[in-house]
Amino acid sequence: MLFKNSLSYVGAIPVFVDIEPTTLCMDPAKLEAAITPKTRAIIPVHVYGSTADLEKILAIADKHGIPVIEDCAHSHGGIWNGRGVGSWGKVGSFSFQQSKSMASGEGGICITNDKELADKIYLLKHIGYARGLKQGQGIRAPEDLLCHNYRATAFQAVILSEQLKKLKERVAAYWDSAKLLAAAVEDVPGFRSQAPGRLSDPQGYYSFQYIFDGEQFHGIPKNIIDEACAAEGFRPGNGTHEAVYHQALFNLRKEKGQYRFAEGDSCPVCEAIVPKTLGIAHQVLAERKTVEKIAEIMHKVTSNVDELRKYMKMK
Ligand SMILES: *Cc1c(COP(=O)(O)O)cnc(C)c1O
Repeated sequence: MLFKNSLSYVGAIPVFVDIEPTTLCMDPAKLEAAITPKTRAIIPVHVYGSTADLEKILAIADKHGIPVIEDCAHSHGGIWNGRGVGSWGKVGSFSFQQSKSMASGEGGICITNDKELADKIYLLKHIGYARGLKQGQGIRAPEDLLCHNYRATAFQAVILSEQLKKLKERVAAYWDSAKLLAAAVEDVPGFRSQAPGRLSDPQGYYSFQYIFDGEQFHGIPKNIIDEACAAEGFRPGNGTHEAVYHQALFNLRKEKGQYRFAEGDSCPVCEAIVPKTLGIAHQVLAERKTVEKIAEIMHKVTSNVDELRKYMKMK
């Protein structure tokens, strides 16, 4: 089977940069070492409910003259240092796939304030036709530009326009809920939540992440905490599954020349944290009463590590 994604279409090879243990976003301190003379773009992901350190990442990118593409798929409506995420890099990309905080089944958008680039992106998504021109007008994309049909429909636009009207309110609710959920475990040793971006206020969310990587939780697997929470009435889920370079798309046969093997990519901070995360989906963050209940449950379960260990032995 042949997998393709945006990187392979342009013949690019991804180089993965490890994350900050606090925000779970790209670690700017590790970015510079990953840059090579072949680096053409830097793509920080504003992951789950945090914002990559745009200030530091942009400073490094500018120094090397490399554009930044912000992956804002988790971060609709997030504000960094007074301005929206996606507006800091050369391009900001947002997904409207069904699980995201703005969703239209499938779809997405790229934003940029570079007109030439906007026109090029338009060609790419509209089978090589230029903006404002229609099929049959003799317009051809440049020969070396592989174009696609990535058009959304008016249905998506209508659905998303309505959601956009309420986005600010929704993000404010997420932000308040996140603060409550973080405060609930502040006094629990060994248990923490994903740190918000240094200059974020408020932040968009895909999910709220708890991390149990303190020594107090050593040897307690995710499913035990999960089950104990479920017994109290709420089952977290939606945690991190795997480091992204383990994903099938990054592990194709090398000899086919389609993709780089993930071999040799090593992000130890990410690898260590992946099995120690619990997530609460953004949809839940919109419901204040539910969030209050979850905060209580999370505090109760995680501040009784001895009970968790007993439960573990019973099984
Ligand atoms: C969902 C997602 C994407 C891709 O979105 P699609 O619309 O499915 O292409 C990209 N980055 C992150 C971090 C995502 O969660």
